[in-house]
Amino acid sequence: MILSDYHIHTSFSSDSEQNPEDIVKKAISLGFKNICFTDHNDFDFPLEEGKVMFLLNYQEYIKYFQNLREKYKNSINICIGVEQGLMKSVSSSVNNYDSGRQLDFIIGSSHLVYGQDPYYPDFWDKCSIDDAILTYYESIIENLKCCDNFDVYGHLDYIIRYIPDKSYIYDWHRYQDYLHDILKTLIENGKGIEINTAGLKYGLSEPNPCSGILKMYRELGGEIITIGSDAHSMNYLGYKFDIIPDYLMDAGFDYYTIFRQRKPEFIRL
Ligand SMILES: [Zn+2]
Ligand SMILES: [Zn+2]
Repeated sequence: MILSDYHIHTSFSSDSEQNPEDIVKKAISLGFKNICFTDHNDFDFPLEEGKVMFLLNYQEYIKYFQNLREKYKNSINICIGVEQGLMKSVSSSVNNYDSGRQLDFIIGSSHLVYGQDPYYPDFWDKCSIDDAILTYYESIIENLKCCDNFDVYGHLDYIIRYIPDKSYIYDWHRYQDYLHDILKTLIENGKGIEINTAGLKYGLSEPNPCSGILKMYRELGGEIITIGSDAHSMNYLGYKFDIIPDYLMDAGFDYYTIFRQRKPEFIRL
């Protein structure tokens, strides 16, 4: 059983209305031992209807979760994390974030591809699906050259959730040279990846990244691997975690990773 969820959003994120304390209560009722809140911070995210999106009030956030952690310390281990949007144009803000080291964990994610959001169908209108996915991986390689202040790369290959043509068959081998470079760079820089189960509710057949990429990560010497539901509501806490132990073992892992104070700890399956 995986009893740690390391990717959770709350009402501190622009796209969630979830009360954080209710998540804690739910996690305790499900028997979770460790949870890490990872609300969004995306510097320079495009305005939506004139509103600033995905910018975290860092001081308020830290204070709120420090209090929550204290309140429930006898029942569950609460960690404080952030899901940071990585982009070359904001790399100095990313690299200077949390300089006082109050966070336990930072997920680095790509929510924008050179400033464009693949969530919207017009992202896909400009070129072929293959080229759009290649551009996404190319942008990740660029992000890795300039952003260093994170622990794992979030939901690698998640862009496939948003392909408008649902008959398109995704084959990761088409992008394997890029993926090889991405994974190698992550490993050399001491970073990990996460297994993210949120895509399963979009109809994907596997978590992100897919099993082929997970195996490649292992073969290249990757060791750090966190597990996250990416829940934006408490109903999805630990979503489909029952399939993860087999998924990990098939790829050659007999443990998974959690972080405390930005340091990895390994938990046997
Ligand atoms: Zn994300
Ligand atoms: Zn997320």
